[in-house]
Amino acid sequence: MRYGIISDIHSNATALEAVLDRLKGVDAYISPGDVVGYGPDPNECCSMLRSIDCTTVIGNHDAVVADLVDSVWFNPYARAAAFYNREQLSPENLDFVGKLPVSKTFDDFILVHATLKIPLTFHYIHSPNTAGDCFEQMETASLCFVGHTHLAEAYIQRKGEKEVDQLSFRSGGKLMLKDDFQYIINCGSVGQPRDGNKGAACGIYDSEERSVEFIRVPYDIAAVQARMRDADLPDYLIERLEHGE
Ligand code: ZN
Repeated sequence: MRYGIISDIHSNATALEAVLDRLKGVDAYISPGDVVGYGPDPNECCSMLRSIDCTTVIGNHDAVVADLVDSVWFNPYARAAAFYNREQLSPENLDFVGKLPVSKTFDDFILVHATLKIPLTFHYIHSPNTAGDCFEQMETASLCFVGHTHLAEAYIQRKGEKEVDQLSFRSGGKLMLKDDFQYIINCGSVGQPRDGNKGAACGIYDSEERSVEFIRVPYDIAAVQARMRDADLPDYLIERLEHGE
């Protein structure tokens, strides 16, 4: 099976369209969450994910937009955008977002938004140290796809050992998975990359080849920024798209 991985879409329909075009031909789609929040197109993004039957888990922004989690921990920009997204969503799409599962276990991998220890809050995997808890929760599973940090990178641990390696894939690349290792993999953010590369991020997991490809796709950032201005979304969120930070 070849899985297209699309995380942290964040209501950016232009980036999502570009990524889906690049991933055409995969057998199935999976998303580690944050379909909505930050961007201008929550309905378009929910509808696209539903139409491609993407297996999606809930992200912290999805949970706030669906009013399942309080926005008290959000900065004012994220909160303003979450409220805008909530107002915009149709009842069907609000229902879709609110009913997403917290995690999903497949035969050969697990899907979760932030970490397996604390799936939905402000616990970020951004260093070998912070990956440790998630490796423990994986038990014998060898592969976990996460989102949340908006950084394309992989954490690698030899089974039964404590040392963790961190590899950045901010410029794309391919990782071959080895049998006696465990992996936590973030393919980066479709709609709001933060690793200094402004291209929409996505990935392909090939379960037969045992590989993960990290991909960046250019998209029309100015068009998204124009829609964000029309929607009166915060300038900070508009500007960061062109820097990928
Ligand atoms: Zn996110």
